[in-house]
Amino acid sequence: MTEFANFLVVGGAMVLLLSLFPVNQLRRRLPYSPCRVAWMFLSVLICCFFVGYLLYGMLFWNDARQWHDLVVPVIFFLGAIFVLIVCLLSARTADDVTRLCHLEYENIMDPLLGIYNRRYMDRCLRSEAEKSRRYGLELAVLLIDVDFFKKINDSYGHLVGDRVLQALAQMVKGSVRDFDMVFRYGGEEIMVLLPYTTLSGAENLAERLRQWVSERCMVEEVCNGAPIDVRITISIGVSAFNLDVENEGEMVARADMALYRAKQNGRNRVEIADSAQLKQAGKGVSA
Ligand code: GH3
Ligand code: MG
Ligand code: MG
Repeated sequence: MTEFANFLVVGGAMVLLLSLFPVNQLRRRLPYSPCRVAWMFLSVLICCFFVGYLLYGMLFWNDARQWHDLVVPVIFFLGAIFVLIVCLLSARTADDVTRLCHLEYENIMDPLLGIYNRRYMDRCLRSEAEKSRRYGLELAVLLIDVDFFKKINDSYGHLVGDRVLQALAQMVKGSVRDFDMVFRYGGEEIMVLLPYTTLSGAENLAERLRQWVSERCMVEEVCNGAPIDVRITISIGVSAFNLDVENEGEMVARADMALYRAKQNGRNRVEIADSAQLKQAGKGVSA
């Protein structure tokens, strides 16, 4: 009985020490935040309990003679097991949540361009159009296509083409507001969804983007030993969700037709959606 009581107290103290490992692991993974401070506080608390267990062990060493002398050591031991299980579960839950976040991120991102993918675009288009319809909010869209991009691939290779697309995507992402969304629409086509933006606001942004791209070197390359600035131009179709548009599919179809017009009219241009043209072509797309 006496040895068993001693074992429970010393064993409990060791279990408490063990629980410091998952707590420290968890703490190190957190950024400096109130949550990290709370875990540090918990580590200190566990250390205090550890000292308390040792003190109790020293004061009541070989002192358990009857069965009820075991009550406190048993509670000590089970308490330590409880702390260990909670700490292990917390560390494990943090692992699972991190893995889920990575999966969610991969599920909505385009790995090459570092912007949202088409799957996520469909989801956002639906929900933003719904908000726009329900609360009468403005919503606009830009459809961007690189002019003569095949030539870039043919002249410099696909790897340089990829870097040009990455630079363009990051430039567009860096030029819009936090709540605007940038998606890879297709091969070298990028869509920008602009909540709370009128058609003319979207046109201004599109014109600014077009001008920036045309003035900038996208990628610096060395070709036959000589440095070369790889430059591109873009064409942009602009459309907006308004009373004239039946659904988000029609808004995108209009932006697509405006983009087509920009290409036909000589490229390196911004064109605005024209509802008459869509009806004429009978090309309404339902979402
Ligand atoms: P246009 O001015 O009419 O748009 O001419 P274009 O040559 O850009 O024609 P189009 O838009 O049809 O061409 C798209 C090209 O983009 C074809 C394809 O090889 C290339 N492309 C699509 N996705 C990628 C990619 O991820 N990386 C690279 N390097 N090229 C891509
Ligand atoms: Mg193109
Ligand atoms: Mg294209």
